[in-house]
Amino acid sequence: MNILILGSGGREHAFAWKIAQSPLCDTLFMAPGNAGTAGIATNLSISYNDFDAIANAVIENNIELVIVGPEEPLVNGVVDYFNAREDLSKVRIIGPDKAGAQLEGSKDFSKQFMDKYGIPTAASRTFTAEDLEVGLEYLENHSLPIVLKADGLAAGKGVIIAEKHSDATQAFREMLLDGKFGKAGNKVVIEQFLKGIELSVFVLTDGEHYKILPEAKDYKRIGENDTGLNTGGMGAVSPVVFADANFIRKVEEKVVKPTLFGLQSEGIKYVGFIFIGLMNIKGEPYVIEYNVRMGDPETEVVVPRIQSDFAMLMASTAKGTLQDFDLQISPQVAVTTVVVSGGYPEDYEKGKVISGTDKVEDVHVFHAGTTFNANAEVVTNGGRVMALTGLANSLENAVHKSQRAAQAVQYEGKYFRHDIGVDLIRYND
Ligand code: AMP
Repeated sequence: MNILILGSGGREHAFAWKIAQSPLCDTLFMAPGNAGTAGIATNLSISYNDFDAIANAVIENNIELVIVGPEEPLVNGVVDYFNAREDLSKVRIIGPDKAGAQLEGSKDFSKQFMDKYGIPTAASRTFTAEDLEVGLEYLENHSLPIVLKADGLAAGKGVIIAEKHSDATQAFREMLLDGKFGKAGNKVVIEQFLKGIELSVFVLTDGEHYKILPEAKDYKRIGENDTGLNTGGMGAVSPVVFADANFIRKVEEKVVKPTLFGLQSEGIKYVGFIFIGLMNIKGEPYVIEYNVRMGDPETEVVVPRIQSDFAMLMASTAKGTLQDFDLQISPQVAVTTVVVSGGYPEDYEKGKVISGTDKVEDVHVFHAGTTFNANAEVVTNGGRVMALTGLANSLENAVHKSQRAAQAVQYEGKYFRHDIGVDLIRYND
């Protein structure tokens, strides 16, 4: 089977690394991929938002299975596009259609969905510019802190946690009146602040059956001890010490099952990953958000713990036979540290030559923002450059492996956090 993965991040390199090991995979293609995937797959220089070009590549290369990495093409309807083209009717695609992708594409939709199907989440109300005055009054009477969310996709920046009423009303006006997040901010969800510990649970569904994948915790802020600006993610850990079997069982009963029931009841045929962002509040799960794809960098700790054949897992999802799939998960601990460009998440330079990747030992190197320069050297090409995943029998050793690799990789302006996973080592003390 020829397989195509859409995307160019560490998440897609991790998928590619695992799929390339499968005897089921003949030729693996990436669109567009990165310098890391070039070694194990054929990178096609096609944007994942160019559906016509993707379709042409699929036909030309006899691709039978497409895995969609990022949310953008899903929200833009890549699955609907494939379903509508008769000449692609035999091609299987892993990802929800536009209706299912609304779980991530519209915070308002996902809040209404959770309320309708009794899924535990923060209390909320949605406002548009038309009810600005009502919204301002609602904010004034709201307890602090207040969470404001732009309805649409805002590249992970659309959530504001205001500690003061004045900050909340200013952010509210900026979103609704000044177009701070463009169209994404035409509706604003105002939400109760949840105090607890965050983690993510990942579900893979074929539309009817499901498998729960290993959970993960990510580290969003640029600075150590979770300080400074938000980023796409500076590292991740799996498993998560505060998500014991009892907690995961509650997630399954109170969140996973009602979510899948809700999707079916709404007539949404959902095939793909569901990323459930959760707050653990005194042992009870509350949903913060849904994403309709895997997380990045969470994938870089989840996929290395999956022992089963990943191409077979994907094929079984596409065929609707997940109930028969024997999913084997490694009990080992995975820690990934992301090395980023100097200045990220604000302005940064690209094109810095990367060295030292040949010196890293006993670690998985997943490329993200990398490419080749004219001299065929691997250079930086984005904010997040690589994710370095250590796998070990203990959290301490996994942290150590990941950190050692992050030290060894070299390029001008390199930055990484030294504390990924360290808080969890102390967690049980
Ligand atoms: P989201 O894009 O909805 O995941 O929000 C981004 C981040 O904001 C989350 O990962 C949480 O850390 C935080 N957040 C979102 N909603 C809430 C909430 N209701 N209470 C506390 N923190 C939240």
